[in-house]
Amino acid sequence: MKDLSRITGYGCIVAGVGPAGMGFLFNALKTGQITTLARHGLLILDAGGTHASGKLGAGRLGEYRITANSVGDVFLDCLRDPALADVLAPLEGEPCLERIRADPYSSPRLDEIGELLEAASALVLAHITALPGVEMWCGTSLDTLQYLDGTSILTLSHEPEVAQRTSRLRTENLVLNLGGQQCPEQLTQSLNRQGLTPSRRARIYSGDELLRMPLGQLRSLLLPRLRRGGRVCVVGGSHSAFSMLDVLADALRNTRVKEITLLHRSPIRLFFENAEEARAAGYHYDAERDVCPISGRINRSGGLRYRALAIGQEILATGRIEECAMNIQLVQTGPGSAQRLELASEVLADAPIVVQCNGYQPILPTISDAHHQPITLREVNGGLDSDANGNPCDIHGQRLAGLYMFGLGAGLAVDPTLGSEASFDGRIYGVWQFHNHASLPALHAIIARNASDDALGSDTAHSVGQVIASDRGMASVSGSGMTSDKTSANSVVSEKASAESLAQASEAEDFSSALKVLSDSLGLQQKSRMA
Ligand SMILES: Cc1cc2nc3c(=O)[nH]c(=O)nc-3n(C[C@H](O)[C@H](O)[C@H](O)COP(=O)(O)OP(=O)(O)OC[C@H]3O[C@@H](n4cnc5c(N)ncnc54)[C@H](O)[C@@H]3O)c2cc1C
Repeated sequence: MKDLSRITGYGCIVAGVGPAGMGFLFNALKTGQITTLARHGLLILDAGGTHASGKLGAGRLGEYRITANSVGDVFLDCLRDPALADVLAPLEGEPCLERIRADPYSSPRLDEIGELLEAASALVLAHITALPGVEMWCGTSLDTLQYLDGTSILTLSHEPEVAQRTSRLRTENLVLNLGGQQCPEQLTQSLNRQGLTPSRRARIYSGDELLRMPLGQLRSLLLPRLRRGGRVCVVGGSHSAFSMLDVLADALRNTRVKEITLLHRSPIRLFFENAEEARAAGYHYDAERDVCPISGRINRSGGLRYRALAIGQEILATGRIEECAMNIQLVQTGPGSAQRLELASEVLADAPIVVQCNGYQPILPTISDAHHQPITLREVNGGLDSDANGNPCDIHGQRLAGLYMFGLGAGLAVDPTLGSEASFDGRIYGVWQFHNHASLPALHAIIARNASDDALGSDTAHSVGQVIASDRGMASVSGSGMTSDKTSANSVVSEKASAESLAQASEAEDFSSALKVLSDSLGLQQKSRMA
């Protein structure tokens, strides 16, 4: 057996505190489970949060120069729990909160949401990191992960100012949400599967990057590529694709670009609160497949909402975004009566600019097994093939217990008890979900695994928690007010026995009854409202 005893251990490590990782921590605080996590040793780490890289809590969300796909009240709801009231009290009167409160039923700009999430996260992190047993490392990147039958060995790199920290850690519970990325190969492969290829002169741009650019910069980036003519082609069919059309039409208005083409696989789906609203808007939907049986909403999970909905409706009705005098050509590439593959092929042949808006892959550390062989996680439409806890599986179908992923690029399957439309086969993610259903099963599973460690008499978690707790006096808060950074707790567990009981604990996988007892005792009722 590998000797893990000299590697610093934690009961739980939360890697990445963007909206997904923070949602987990908010949930831990709301349910009172944060103290249990702390008792077993909790480390929160993020590559950002330094003076140079800025505040934590909003991840990339606040950087997108578009409006949200939900109303402001959905974000306010994440902060509304009575258990958060004292911690969040200093937010009262802050402009970032009051602006959203003033107009809670319109969809705010994402930079406004980012500001609110950062301010709320700062308070929650300050509260949590003051608890005995909790550490927070900013400026620390998770680079590699070796997965040993339920235990993760992490290799980290640190910003120079905190370079003295240890670079190897282990944990049985890794909440891993480092955000998402768009790989151009993924777009090319997806087009190839439909018999399509971008032209050789095409440059593939990540929609994610373009959505974060000021309009002037976007214009100067794209216009030179159109010097010799050709089309601008966006690939995708959901919220970010329509937000991209909106932004591009604005950036390229009054230039030689008069038309943008959207290649989309499935029909464009619009969200409506109910059948009457859809009918009033003249929207045709499939009464069997597009209606959520629980809420009666149309295209509840996959439909365009708010600004993207308005843009989508205008384009479907007129083929234009009138405000920018920009024609928008829609070309469906997926099977069905509207499929126009030949036209799609011509468009791509004539497009020096192809913008990728067809989803995300999760950002991952390099993952390997006990023999240092790479582990590849199995993907499904829209994210990872994970279970309700967010435990992903490898390409052989082996579940990776103790890894919890539900953020951008990973997502979770629709929970049938909460409802969705049958036609939606993607993954669900969003801030409200992170703060509620998406992170709760992971939290339950971690608490149950910790309880199982206790029951098995493992002294690992206790000794880690105790050593960290005894180090509490060493906490220091950096100038940003965000980076509560305890001097590295010397939580090396020295006895080999600890490592052995750790390995045993990781083999105890039947937590379902423990989970049930836990949920019952918490009295948690899943709210059925969905953002
Ligand atoms: C264009 C767009 C619009 C969206 N609009 C909405 C919306 O309106 N409403 C909504 O609810 N959701 C929206 N979402 C979905 C989702 O809420 C956001 O994408 C959100 O930012 C995802 O959070 P995350 O924590 O998974 O990732 P991120 O926001 O990317 O955060 C990742 C965190 O991990 C850290 N990190 C990265 N790499 C490392 C590493 N190696 N080591 C340590 N830390 C690391 C980063 O510093 C960051 O703090 C939108 C998504 C997109 C793409």
